[in-house]
Order: sequence, then C-alpha cells, then structure tokens
Amino acid sequence: MSEALAEISARFEEFAAIRRDIHAHPELGLVEHRTSALVAERLEAWGIEVHRGVGGTGVVGVLRSGNGEGSVGLRADMDALPIFEASGAAWSSQTPGLMHACGHDGHTTMLLAAARQLAETRRFNGTVNFIFQPGEEGCGGALAMLNDGLFDRFPCDAIYGLHNQPGLDVGRYRMTPGPAMAGGGFFDATLTGVGAHAARPEAGVDPVVAVCQLVTALQTIVSRTISPSNPVVFSVTKISGGEAHNVIPQTASFGGTFRAMNWATLDLVRERLEHMTQALAAGFGTTAEITFGEMFAPMINNPERTAFAADTARAIVGAEAVEGSAPFVLGSEDFAFMLEKVPGAFVRVGNGATAGLHHPAYDFNDATIPYGAALLVELTERTLIRAVC
Ligand SMILES: [Zn+2]
Ligand SMILES: [Zn+2]
Repeated sequence: MSEALAEISARFEEFAAIRRDIHAHPELGLVEHRTSALVAERLEAWGIEVHRGVGGTGVVGVLRSGNGEGSVGLRADMDALPIFEASGAAWSSQTPGLMHACGHDGHTTMLLAAARQLAETRRFNGTVNFIFQPGEEGCGGALAMLNDGLFDRFPCDAIYGLHNQPGLDVGRYRMTPGPAMAGGGFFDATLTGVGAHAARPEAGVDPVVAVCQLVTALQTIVSRTISPSNPVVFSVTKISGGEAHNVIPQTASFGGTFRAMNWATLDLVRERLEHMTQALAAGFGTTAEITFGEMFAPMINNPERTAFAADTARAIVGAEAVEGSAPFVLGSEDFAFMLEKVPGAFVRVGNGATAGLHHPAYDFNDATIPYGAALLVELTERTLIRAVC
C-alpha cells in the first residue's frame, strides 16, 4: 500500500461523511450552489487559495509548494441527475426527483480528500489546481469553465480526471490511451405536411409516413457511408406525431443522438443526417426543420500521460489491478473539452458491485474514495517532483 493510500485511508470516516452529505443534497448541473460552497469552504479551511464562480458554479483551488514552475490540474464534477432515488441508503437524496446517480458526489469527495492530503503533506514542488466542474451531464460545464479562462488563469502542464466504474472491483483502475470515449451531438427534426381526415389521405400530406421512412433510412448513414472500422452510433430515441385515430396530423417529429470517435466523422454524420432528412422529407411532399444541440468532443487521452497514470496506479495497488489499455467506449464525457486543451488522462476507478451509472438504485461506493484520492495525490507528487535536499 502506498504512503498516500495509507494516510488517506486513515481519514476514511471524515470523507465518507462528506460524500454522504453531498449525496443527500443533490443539485442539477450549473446550479450546484450548495455543493460548490461546501467545496470552497473545505478548501479554504485547509489553507488552499479558492476561486469561486469560475464558469458559473465552478470552483478552483490553487495550492503551491516550493519554487517549481510545473503545474498539474485535477478535475472532478459536481452535478446530479433528474432521477428519483431508489438506493434505500440512509443518506438518500432529500430532494425528490434528483439524485447523484453518476457518482459525482464521490468524484467531488475524492478530489477534496486529495486536496487535503496535498495541503497537509506538501510533498511536491510546483502548483496544483483543483478544478471542481459544474454541469457535466450534458450541461456544458467544462466549456463554461474554459470560456471563463480556466487554463489562462490556472495554467496546467497536465490534467487528470476520474470516474467511478460499477462492475470493476474496488482497488482496481482502468484507462484507455488515445481515443477513449466518443464525441457526439443531439438532434431534433420536425416534418410538416398537410393535415387531413384520416379517411381522405389524398387531401393531405402525411408527415407520419415520412418520419417512419426516415427513421429506417437514416440507419444507412452508419452502414453505407462510414467504414466498418470506424465506430459510430446513430440512434433515434424520440418519435411523436398525431393525437387522434381519425386525423392525419400536420406535423410529426423525431430526435436522437449520434456518437463517433473523431470530429471529422461527427461532421460527416451530421451532414448526411441533414441531407437525408431534407431530401426524403421533400420526396414525401413534406418540409423538414432540423436543429442540433451543442456538439460534445471526443475524449482523447494523451498516450504518454495515460501510461504515466497506469504506472502510478500500479505503484499504488500492484500491476495486476491496473488495466492500462482498456477498449474505448461510445459513451461521452465533458472532460473531453479540457483534454483538447491540456494533455492528460481520464481514469476509471473500480466502484465494486453497485447498480449501474444513472440507475435509480445506484450509490457511489465510499470504499473507492481512498483509491481515487491516492491516485490524484501520487500523480501530483510524481509529476511535480520535490527536490531532495
Ligand atoms: Zn453520468
Ligand atoms: Zn458521470
């Protein structure tokens, strides 16, 4: 067991209590007022310089030691999800319809535990920036912090983030060098035809038939225009139109998401989606309007930093507990925008046999706290090496 892991483990109860407190008081993305105040107060109590309101409810703590010019960024997310909690935990959400179902309560706590440890021991030479991000769950929190000058105000040579992984044993780590998670976007389309009596289809232009054809036809974007070796997901997840059995409606709509591992493919999918929707809609005599939400970046882990993180994790728990080249996944993560600016790595820490992420019965496993915090501490100490006198 590493020194940092032993020292942080000795404070387990203190940080488990913080995690359960955050869990009981979940807040949606970009309005994490209580959580960010809690974070800021704790950091200040440990003698860390605190910057509130970075990108809305974001908080940055700055800790310097020695005269080193190197800097490391450690990032956690703070937001919860609009889900009714069914974990049965004593510290369950006190706000019905809101819960920490992705473990961001745990991520925030692990970064706090690392901050306290580094502030107390200062076994590093340089600057460490503790970045507490708002609104990770599709709310644009990372971009909000970047647009607020995050890395201009708090320059980082390297950056690391963690996410808990249900199904991976506590005390294990998993990471993927290079492309690790997908980028993507959301879309909504509405087709407008001409409403009519259902018994007189010749009097109208039916948008429902057109939407049905489109949902099927759009699947060929992946199968016919993208190389099979280039992973892409295209999913229509919403479809609606009509209110009555005997009315051909005026409009029908659908929406969904697409994911890919690089920007060029995302641009291609978006262009094909737009073109096919317009062309097919016109073929059926309807008109189409399609809108896109803010696109999110593919997450590319810097290979050297990822190898460094894997070596660091092995030093903590032994080689057999670290997967240094796990396969990529098509999920997405807001931290990708920060990794576009600063080389670094996103690491999974085992959460044990809990319910899956975003499941109502999910609860972050407190036993994970020392492992996540110790990795953040060791990454900092190994990057900002203190001169030995
Ligand atoms: Zn999530
Ligand atoms: Zn998450």
